Amino acid sequence: MFLAYFGWTTTAPGILAEMISAPLNVNAMTWRTSPAATELETLVIDWLRQWMHLPPDFDGVVYDTASVGIMHALAVAREEAAPSTRKIGLTGRDLPRFRIYTSDQAHSSAEKAAIALGLGEENVCRVPSDNKFRIETSILRKNVAQDRESGFRPLAVIATVGTTSTASVDPVPEIARLCREEKMWLHIDGAYGGGFAIMPEYKWIAEGWNEADSIIINPHKTLFVPLDFSALYVRDIERLRRVFSLVPEYLRGDTLESERNYMDYGIQLGRRFRALKAWMIWRAFGREGMIALMREHLRLARLFGEWVSASDDFELSAPVSLGVVCFRAKHEIDAFNSRIVESINQSGRAYLNQTKLRGQTVIRLGLGNILTTEKHLRDAWELIQETVRSLATSPP
Ligand SMILES: *Cc1c(COP(=O)(O)O)cnc(C)c1O
Repeated sequence: MFLAYFGWTTTAPGILAEMISAPLNVNAMTWRTSPAATELETLVIDWLRQWMHLPPDFDGVVYDTASVGIMHALAVAREEAAPSTRKIGLTGRDLPRFRIYTSDQAHSSAEKAAIALGLGEENVCRVPSDNKFRIETSILRKNVAQDRESGFRPLAVIATVGTTSTASVDPVPEIARLCREEKMWLHIDGAYGGGFAIMPEYKWIAEGWNEADSIIINPHKTLFVPLDFSALYVRDIERLRRVFSLVPEYLRGDTLESERNYMDYGIQLGRRFRALKAWMIWRAFGREGMIALMREHLRLARLFGEWVSASDDFELSAPVSLGVVCFRAKHEIDAFNSRIVESINQSGRAYLNQTKLRGQTVIRLGLGNILTTEKHLRDAWELIQETVRSLATSPP
């Protein structure tokens, strides 16, 4: 009954793959140091690209996490807006202040990237979201115009497909139009939600992605790969290579120009053989097998949402989106809702988390662990109701 965060799972093929890749201790920095790891990375990146309906002009690279991926993507955006930053840096030049836009629901990795890239945390502009927690494109448009008038330079928009609190999905096609008009980089943060595009009924989630400059998907969240495995796709990946390729003398003889050397696509030189676990899991489960599991998680999320809606004591705090349900005890203060979560977590029987939506404390449940069954969910719901009854009769 661990139902906190986003459900992620380890599986038998995942364990086996980690057991093989650890002792092999392969270094996927250049094709020469590890042709197998390099070729397999290229293969699984291409499978995932096809599942995500991305055209062939997108190509990708595997990093540890989405946070590292977004930093690389924005480094390319920065280089294109301020050429030669790679060579001479940002200071001592006549450059405007760059601005990055994302919704008030987006992940904090946007600010972390701005910190690392010298763009500045405060230049990440948080745009309000609508009643379904999607970015308000009309306000985004206004913010961009105002910033231009004030002498800022709008650099990039980060659209989120599956936000952290409610799994809401930003209107990517509208945002893409604005980015095209304003010549801004479009990054899609699909760390959690992106993987669902593999399901035919969720193909809509990938609408507008072909207009993006970069996209992040975390198979370690939704596609059953154990931590860590995050894929960054860039339209015309040569743009990424141009920013990060730097071949030291001692590796010159080892880099075959005709082959892919993944060290050229990021700041890491040494790289783990991450592709093996993705390959083993995806081969073992099959695309249809993964879709069936994901469909069940989403069914469970909707089912839980129905129980909440039908209850006299609880209400949904956001529409059920993907595998996430946000709800709260009706007519109760924030502290009471926090106590529900804390009391359940202390019981050791289940684990939930809480988040804030529009300043209100809400209880949050994330489906996605493949061991979770309807029985677990029913038991958790029973426990939540029981907890409310017992808290209502005992003082804080
Ligand atoms: C989890 C998550 C991240 C961060 O992912 P890491 O791989 O842990 O860095 C970023 N954005 C969104 C929307 C997420 O859900």
